[in-house]
Amino acid sequence: MALDIILLGPPGAGKGTQATRLEAERGMVQLSTGDMLRAAVKAGSPVGLQAKAVMEAGELVSDEIVSSLIGERLDELGVDTPVIFDGYPRTAAQADALDALLKARGRHLDHVIELEVDEEALVTRITGRFTCANCGEGYHDQFKLPLVPGTCDRCGHHEFKRRPDDNAETVRTRMAEYRAKTAPILPIYEARGIVTRIDGMADMDSVHDAIEAVLAPA
Ligand SMILES: [Zn+2]
Repeated sequence: MALDIILLGPPGAGKGTQATRLEAERGMVQLSTGDMLRAAVKAGSPVGLQAKAVMEAGELVSDEIVSSLIGERLDELGVDTPVIFDGYPRTAAQADALDALLKARGRHLDHVIELEVDEEALVTRITGRFTCANCGEGYHDQFKLPLVPGTCDRCGHHEFKRRPDDNAETVRTRMAEYRAKTAPILPIYEARGIVTRIDGMADMDSVHDAIEAVLAPA
């Protein structure tokens, strides 16, 4: 039976990178409700048309529509395709709906994997980064300064730039948003004993190996 998981992680934890790798190596398919919605609207499927009407009326797409959308997509993919749920569920009601959707198709949620980050370390990592304004070479105040101060190692340019979003306040706001979004569902899956937390601050290969150890225990 296909392995179905939820992958969670705050911005900066490398969730996208890990999901892409699971898709490439395991043939998993990442299901993001936003992407599915856009695809269904574009394809003009019955659920897509329904969603389009709701959105055009300026209303939020209901849980029922989202459920139909996921059901439609799961049927398309077939029982042998393992999926990664991304950004869904967000509420206890959605978690129940997801269980029912999966059960009706002979599937179930195997793991909830959360990539954890240390907020202080993340702030340091993000606020310290800057790039060469000319060639784009990446640097960091603490981890990778140019060898000759003020001079790009790669191209010799003297101007550098920082992204306006790379500030402590933005990082902390995003972390708070993430916690608020996952708070309603984590306890549900913790009670089932299917949550694994992995250090998202580790290098990408280590994170990948840790995920593999959960998905395919030796
Ligand atoms: Zn440069």
